[in-house]
Amino acid sequence: MIKDDCIFCKLANGIFPTNSIYEDEDFNVILDIEPATKGHALILPKNHADNLFELPDETAAKAIILAKKMGGVLKEKLGCDGLNIVQNNGEVTGQTVMHFHFHLIPRYEKNAKVIGWEPGKSTPEELADIRKQIVE
Ligand code: AMP
Ligand code: ZN
Repeated sequence: MIKDDCIFCKLANGIFPTNSIYEDEDFNVILDIEPATKGHALILPKNHADNLFELPDETAAKAIILAKKMGGVLKEKLGCDGLNIVQNNGEVTGQTVMHFHFHLIPRYEKNAKVIGWEPGKSTPEELADIRKQIVE
């Protein structure tokens, strides 16, 4: 289903023109308009889902298989040395377009960059307590 006010619905379904690098029944893969690196692409399902939690399981499974396939294509065609797959859920994570997408970010040795975070500190007791909160 297409959401009227969603730009990625329009790009995924060819309503707005875009630089598509792959298309099938369920997905369009397009080049990001503000690429982090050469070949930065977005996997967009054609049916709207705000985020991963709203994406049907079957589509989620197909999306990761497609990410693997497109990663191979980017490696072969652009000669990237690695690939970050990034997927944000919610404004708090940096998601700016509320239509599920995988970022495929090719990495090259000549301008390598690690997507990271500041490693924090936690005591064994804190970790055990968090584990308890999650599993019990
Ligand atoms: P996120 O912050 O994870 O929601 O990522 C949204 C991404 O969509 C950003 O990397 C934008 O550069 C990209 N983007 C936004 N509008 C367009 C567009 N019209 N065509 C291609 N990419 C877009
Ligand atoms: Zn949408």
